[in-house]
Amino acid sequence: MALKPSALIELHLHLEGSIYPSDAIFLCQKNKIPFNNNMYRHSNFEIFLKHFGDAVSLLKDKEDLVFILQNHLKRLKRWGVVYAEIRVSPSVWERFGLNAEESAKYLFSSNLDPIIKHNFIVESVRHWDKESIERDFNIAIKYKNKVKAFGIGGNEILAPIEDFKFLFEECSKNGIVFIPHCGEVSPADEVLKAIEYGAKKIGHGIKSSQSEIVMNKLKENDVHLEICPTSNLLTGAVKRNSPHPLKTFYDYKVEFSVSTDDPGLFLTTIKKELFFAEKMLENQSEALLIIQKDALKASLLTPKEKEFILTKYYL
Ligand SMILES: [Zn+2]
Repeated sequence: MALKPSALIELHLHLEGSIYPSDAIFLCQKNKIPFNNNMYRHSNFEIFLKHFGDAVSLLKDKEDLVFILQNHLKRLKRWGVVYAEIRVSPSVWERFGLNAEESAKYLFSSNLDPIIKHNFIVESVRHWDKESIERDFNIAIKYKNKVKAFGIGGNEILAPIEDFKFLFEECSKNGIVFIPHCGEVSPADEVLKAIEYGAKKIGHGIKSSQSEIVMNKLKENDVHLEICPTSNLLTGAVKRNSPHPLKTFYDYKVEFSVSTDDPGLFLTTIKKELFFAEKMLENQSEALLIIQKDALKASLLTPKEKEFILTKYYL
């Protein structure tokens, strides 16, 4: 049994964060705006959130969204990704001048070449107004054929998970999954609450490693964490001189996958993230295969689709 290098799965990836400098330069030239290299240098989490907005401000029409989607799907294919879950943030588009509903319609209804198998997650900004969260949620439900989950990102301290308890029920009623960012910068207790509210999949969740109670809860409840090592280091979610807690999760047998989060803004690739994981796990044989199989298990694919990938690549 061996992991074929041409069969990677990525579960945590923001489309707007996949704008690499080459894409940014192209968009700046096309839209006649100056290129600002500073958006690739992040000193803390708040600055990163600002840079995320800077990246979205380069998109001036719905075709630009399709341009960055197709560019990144092509890159994923080149890197050997066979399945990806792609987060999109309509209310962030709206804030920077793109009409959220029209752009979502264009993105989700176009007959585009899929390039690789993928599903979308609509992502809202937790510290913004209720109306924008409602708008994003309605978009997610409207395009359920392409959107399999709803998420919330942004400032976890300003808007704790408690404020979004209702979304676990709302999503479940509407046949989609709720995947919050949680425990990225907020404390382990927030992850505990998310588990109590019914979370089965959490964006980041790395602060859980600071509490044995939460680690046990994650394991008992079969909760999957989407871990993004380079992102954690560059946003300061993990202090630069501290070891990344990835090995703690592995040793505890908490299920997790490895992703890029915002590969363009963090100048990383899925291969670099998996290489980092392999090093952190001291090159234990089978570690990467276990991570990828857990990613497949936690994915938004149907049982039949999971079985297909499992049999084709992992057995
Ligand atoms: Zn994220």
